[in-house]
Amino acid sequence: MLFIMSKNISLDDIASLAKRRGFIYQGSEIYGGLAGTWDYGPLGVTLKRNLVNAWWKFFVESRDDMYGIDSAILMNPKVWIASGHVAGFTDPLIEDVKTKKRYRLDHLLEDAGVDVKGMDLAAMVAAIQEKGVKSPDGNELGNPANFNMLFRTSIGAVEDEASTVYLRGETAQGMFTNFKNVVDSFYPDLPFGVAQVGKAFRNEISPRDFIFRVREFEIAEFEYFINPENWEAEFEKWRVAMHQWCEEILGLPAEKVHELEVSKEDRAHYSKRTIDFEFDFPFGKKELYGLAYRTDFDLNNHQRDSGKNLEYRPKDGSPAFVPHVIEPTFGVDRTLMAVLCNSYTEDEVNGEKRIFLKLPKHLAPVKACVSPLLKNKPELAAKAREVYSMLKKEIGVVMWDDNGNIGKRYRRQDEIGTPACIVIDFQTLEDGTVTVRDRDTAQQTRVSISELENTIA
Ligand code: ATP
Repeated sequence: MLFIMSKNISLDDIASLAKRRGFIYQGSEIYGGLAGTWDYGPLGVTLKRNLVNAWWKFFVESRDDMYGIDSAILMNPKVWIASGHVAGFTDPLIEDVKTKKRYRLDHLLEDAGVDVKGMDLAAMVAAIQEKGVKSPDGNELGNPANFNMLFRTSIGAVEDEASTVYLRGETAQGMFTNFKNVVDSFYPDLPFGVAQVGKAFRNEISPRDFIFRVREFEIAEFEYFINPENWEAEFEKWRVAMHQWCEEILGLPAEKVHELEVSKEDRAHYSKRTIDFEFDFPFGKKELYGLAYRTDFDLNNHQRDSGKNLEYRPKDGSPAFVPHVIEPTFGVDRTLMAVLCNSYTEDEVNGEKRIFLKLPKHLAPVKACVSPLLKNKPELAAKAREVYSMLKKEIGVVMWDDNGNIGKRYRRQDEIGTPACIVIDFQTLEDGTVTVRDRDTAQQTRVSISELENTIA
């Protein structure tokens, strides 16, 4: 019998399963960690790859108007001056006067129940005073400042101002700096997009909530170059496509994905319209993705600072112009976290509690597990190895597990979201059928080996 329990899932439930089962570990753990960094383990990296591949297929490969790139993480520092990041990529920082620990001012206010939407630094300071907000250690707070989140490093053998470079704070600038290259190589019709998936780095003041807010993370995004006359229709097209991605590919229920129209005061410096896509995470409704109308801000600035012509020349002979841009942006780590949170399920099978990940099957890191019913029966083990090798060749990520009893093996596979567990028993030797146990229903059916690949696919 199957009985689904409704329980409020905490972030600790997710993080402990992720660690226990080899999805995500603390970064540099044996040295006590490094705040804001996490390492993906064997199952985590496969799940992340599956997500990125699905994204690439959905937004890039399946379309005729999208060009993928992979630009360098280190870029000429002039890029970040032109983009406005050196001057304005900041978060409000405030210090505990006693412990000297630093916090994000807006986060402290949010934690105190203040809605910070639309507030500038002065308004936040006033709210801190009015509410008497203290640091989490109960001490007075000092004067706030805007803190730039770009990580700096230096390039070459000499360390001086001239050698300063930045780890990219977003992947978007790689698309803008390659706009002319893509146009020259392919001369695409407008509208078209340039996409990439890659690491971004932000010196977050207070990384928190597991992999939600980290200092090194991955972004999948594209810049969709358009004629500004059509910006509203293009914006709408991508708004709809983003929901489609969330529901059809990630399996996130529509009622857990919310749109937030970002006010002018809260929008990034380059944006004329932004919608945040928020997800109901266990710790609240928080930003999952963003959709922004970046106008011609970036291309214009790069044209000005580089001295290169970044106009698009329409094929019908009408005057050249600098295209505008719609940017859908997807945090890969937040995607993985939303999928994990949404998949985490607890139920009871035959009176016993179990945890399982109800991952969409195409995302599951392991597609099937093969076991002999009894480890110490050579004839069962040999047949099971045969089935295992066959499936590994046909469907790839298949796991072998002959540890412990069958019940324990099922629990392990449930916790990593393996859709099917295949068991070879004595009947297999007689009639060539195996049992296939379904992750979600815990039901077992007998299937002939020749039908296995189809059943699992
Ligand atoms: P937030 O308001 O949460 O700081 P943001 O609005 O600054 O995010 P964007 O600049 O739009 O975020 O970044 C694009 C996407 O990258 C976000 O929608 C999110 O999915 C992801 N992201 C941003 N910052 C982080 C971070 N520190 N850790 C993990 N993912 C992040």
